[in-house]
Amino acid sequence: MDNATTGGLTFYAAAGTFDAHEKGMQHGSGLLVSNGQIVAVGSPGNVCPPDAQVVDLGSTFIVPGFFDAHTHITIRPGEGDQHGQMAQPPAWQAIRGVANLQAMLKSGVTTARIMTEEADIDFHFKAAVANGEVAGPTLRVAGRGLSPPGKHGGAVAGVQGRADLSAAVAANAAKGADHIKIFTTGGVSSTDTSLDESNYSAEEIAAIVDTAAEHSLTVSAHAHGGPGVDLAVANGIHSIEHGALLTADSVRRIVEAGVWIVLTNTILFHPNGIEQGDAQDPRILAKVQQARASMERAIELIRAEGARVALGTDSMHGLFGYELQWLTEHGYTVEEALLAATRSAAELAGVDNIGRLAPGSQADFSVLDRDPFEHISAVYDIRAVYRAGRQVVAPDGYTRPAPLSATLPEGEPNE
Ligand SMILES: [Zn+2]
Repeated sequence: MDNATTGGLTFYAAAGTFDAHEKGMQHGSGLLVSNGQIVAVGSPGNVCPPDAQVVDLGSTFIVPGFFDAHTHITIRPGEGDQHGQMAQPPAWQAIRGVANLQAMLKSGVTTARIMTEEADIDFHFKAAVANGEVAGPTLRVAGRGLSPPGKHGGAVAGVQGRADLSAAVAANAAKGADHIKIFTTGGVSSTDTSLDESNYSAEEIAAIVDTAAEHSLTVSAHAHGGPGVDLAVANGIHSIEHGALLTADSVRRIVEAGVWIVLTNTILFHPNGIEQGDAQDPRILAKVQQARASMERAIELIRAEGARVALGTDSMHGLFGYELQWLTEHGYTVEEALLAATRSAAELAGVDNIGRLAPGSQADFSVLDRDPFEHISAVYDIRAVYRAGRQVVAPDGYTRPAPLSATLPEGEPNE
């Protein structure tokens, strides 16, 4: 009987809990869960009633499920030519996507913000995960990204001009998009695209943002620096994605406008990222080196100005821990990194029932063998992952699909 998802009370007893609300690790604290939701966080003596089923997690530590705020389902950067991968037959992309989603889940990612796919693949995967067809994080999807013809991000077809851009936003909204993604600059992994010139005019960006707002959607801009960032910020964009070439002036404007920055440094700095996939091309290698050097400076400005940040692996499936570690190696505290990976990402996405371990929140959490406040590398050693109170990654690494519906069949194994 799966107590934690069917109305009975289950208490997960651990050595400590980080709830992304109170400061630091709460030692001796565990989670009380019922019907897929968190009822209470605290010591067994304070919050565990006598009729609760107790799951003893031993000397482990509980953290909220991670929220990868910028990734893709089908891409593997280390294999190179990301645009070419997105132009492969949709069935082939979907086959690869299944393994990529499993890898995300095993790294403790229980929610992922998908930043464009082709052929409606993200809409189908979102439903497949929610229905329990495949194992994976809860997905928040964008549909097709908006980029001018031939530019970075336009893997299959580009779009420009206010009318066509508005129509493209409306088409994504009609399919059930959770947010809109546009590309206002070129990217590191493509040749002949600029990292700071703006792909779109102010009028075009404003048309995109206005149409999205009519559908209650926010717009995120892939942008590295220069006018591509500044025009986006001045015209109502919700988040700047990547931001490797941000200057002090740009960061200040971002903070003043209340815009988020989604950092994606695994794909840029990890040797299995763009470096492995595309940097044999000297033009891309030069871009990687420029972006790395610039980001080393930008991250200091971003932290100094107090910009709101979330973290994304950008398709480095299974390496979410590296994103956290990178941040702590660049001036952020462990607590700041964990908040960027959980609560902040939920705020960025406008979702209020995840990202924290608080009464009423969905019971999405990971069990770590070690305390991440002792050493951040603890986030790599994930013993188990739970989504809505169900174990979706077991200690042996086995992943299992789990429907998000509250009315679940009884009799499924809990351990
Ligand atoms: Zn991306």
